[in-house]
Amino acid sequence: MKAEIIAVGSELLLGQITNTNARFISSRLAEIGVDVYYQTVAGDNPARLEEAIRIAEERADLLVFSGGLGPTKDDLTKETIARHIGIALEMDEDALHSIEDYFERTGREMTANNRKQALVLKGSTILANHHGMAPGMALAANDHIYILLPGPPHEMEPMFEKLAIPYVHRALGRKEAIVSTVVKFYGIGEAELAFKVQDLLDSQSNPTIAPLASRDGVTLRLTAKADTPELARTLILPVIGDLQEQVGEFIYGFDDDTLSSKAAELLQEKGLSISAAESLTAGLFTSLLAEHAGISVALKGGMTVYTEEEKIRQLGLDPAMLKRHGVVSSECAGALAASVRKRFLTDIGIGLTGAAGPDPHDGQPAGTVWIGISFAGSTETYQLKLSGSRNSNRMRAANFTLYYLIRKLRTA
Ligand code: ATP
Repeated sequence: MKAEIIAVGSELLLGQITNTNARFISSRLAEIGVDVYYQTVAGDNPARLEEAIRIAEERADLLVFSGGLGPTKDDLTKETIARHIGIALEMDEDALHSIEDYFERTGREMTANNRKQALVLKGSTILANHHGMAPGMALAANDHIYILLPGPPHEMEPMFEKLAIPYVHRALGRKEAIVSTVVKFYGIGEAELAFKVQDLLDSQSNPTIAPLASRDGVTLRLTAKADTPELARTLILPVIGDLQEQVGEFIYGFDDDTLSSKAAELLQEKGLSISAAESLTAGLFTSLLAEHAGISVALKGGMTVYTEEEKIRQLGLDPAMLKRHGVVSSECAGALAASVRKRFLTDIGIGLTGAAGPDPHDGQPAGTVWIGISFAGSTETYQLKLSGSRNSNRMRAANFTLYYLIRKLRTA
């Protein structure tokens, strides 16, 4: 099977957004043995989109579309495909109900063009959208398969993974069950991870192991085939065991876990409370934790203490100590962690200080970060030497703090 990806959206052509959907879809199709020979981008223009569809049909069997399923006039993907292959659009009652439910729940008024989002290609298999309104579709017609996906990556990715990939397997007549698990790593680069588990990567064919770098660190996707999903899972488990043994210290979670969701989950599971005093991250760390519902049982509060004066005034840091070691130091991070823990009466205190860049700060080069974690009567500090831009350094400092916290919580 040969595939072509057609990403629809003028923002892509104007350079306003990056076509990350094509990258995601291509990498997943490659993993299941479907060749992607072309990726196309078309603007919100029906004539040019139809032209792109015609060309793709000549050189591919599977056409995967992303974007243009929204409610506005320039969202025209399904209308153009319907016209091109001569199939009508019809109202999907389930999709319409879930759109109506959404408007009722949020107290917003539904307009006529929102109904348009529930129109689907007649005879297509509906790919339910659990993270947004526009349903996806898969249709076999005219010797081709057309898969239509919404543009927003957080809607498209789970839909593609959970519904479109199994549809492609079925279309290829594959009867066996295919199960995949994503193992998530932090604190280790893609190259170093590949080097450390090279033997495993070379020797495995079922499950296959595919590395991928993402914003949240590096991931390995393990994909196993067997007669049943249960059997496929039993093939994956021992490989996870091998990974735990070889590089377990860098594994923070699986599948949908993020660093912050995992830290939040462990804090809640262990019944531990936390507070943070943040200098260079100015609240980023607490904000990441607060993304997760129910975190108020663990997260008591935090303070942004940006200047030296406020570190002394708000948290009672010793001016002589700061003079001796500087604010970008292990001593300062440790003192911030220990003081905020006392101040908020929490089990864990976090201290974050550093030179975000681009200039050195307090005699320390840009990218120097100190993280303090005060827990169970002792305070430990960790140093990072980062080399990114100011804001990537701040984000990575917050993420590394979550990672060290997860490691600590695992053994707590
Ligand atoms: P909506 O229902 O939100 O309107 P849609 O299916 O109509 O979804 P678009 O309007 O084309 O999708 O795009 C919505 C947003 O999704 C874009 O503003 C962009 O942020 C993101 N997006 C769209 N296409 C891509 C792509 N190829 N790669 C990455 N992000 C994309």
